[in-house]
Amino acid sequence: VFLASLVLIIIGAIDDKKVNVDFLQKAMKHSRRLDALLSDLIEISRIESGEMKMMFRYFSLREFFNSLLEEVQLQAEQKNISLEFISPSQSVEVFADKERIKQVMLNLIENAIKYTSANGKIIIASAIESNGVRIIVTDTGCGIAEEHLPRIFERFYRIDKDRSRDIGGTGLGLAIVKHIIEAHESKVEVQSEIGKGSAFRFNLKGNTM
Ligand code: ATP
Ligand code: MG
Repeated sequence: VFLASLVLIIIGAIDDKKVNVDFLQKAMKHSRRLDALLSDLIEISRIESGEMKMMFRYFSLREFFNSLLEEVQLQAEQKNISLEFISPSQSVEVFADKERIKQVMLNLIENAIKYTSANGKIIIASAIESNGVRIIVTDTGCGIAEEHLPRIFERFYRIDKDRSRDIGGTGLGLAIVKHIIEAHESKVEVQSEIGKGSAFRFNLKGNTM
């Protein structure tokens, strides 16, 4: 389709405003998808080659959650999905690479939004654990069948290839998540039930104040 419209524009539709707008919109969509794919690929090769160094420091969990909420609220609202953040009553200082953990959270929350239909609910909860904090991203989405669960963290693995293509995505998100969490000496665990929803969780080091 993309190539066809390119040819069209070259052979004379160049003066047709409607065709031009269609073409530009398609070109924009394609280049956005390529751009996302490229940065994911660069990211994963940097992680796997050991080139990516983590920058650990302490930061406030509550402030971190607030800035995350700002970033994903609109996306959730557009799909009429409710989004709730739950922090422990005590304040917590997490010891982690803030930017990388933000990337992890955005990947998990974007998945939750992508694979949950309208009127669903997403909860991002945290709880104090012995050496830090546990973070859980839960959705009321389509869920993941048991046979796929061990594979979703593999690069390029997507369960429904046709559907996943429609909603974009290359299947690199969770592979990146897994790498980053492992670099924090932790691991991501998932629990899911078809038709009910999914929960992704991991622990981070930190102190309560
Ligand atoms: P990308 O993140 O690269 O844009 P993606 O979302 O398809 O693409 P991953 O984030 O790696 O890739 O997820 C892999 C697959 O796991 C998805 O294609 C989807 O089938 C499944 N999956 C991930 N998160 C969820 C979820 N919250 N609910 C249901 N299925 C999920
Ligand atoms: Mg994803």
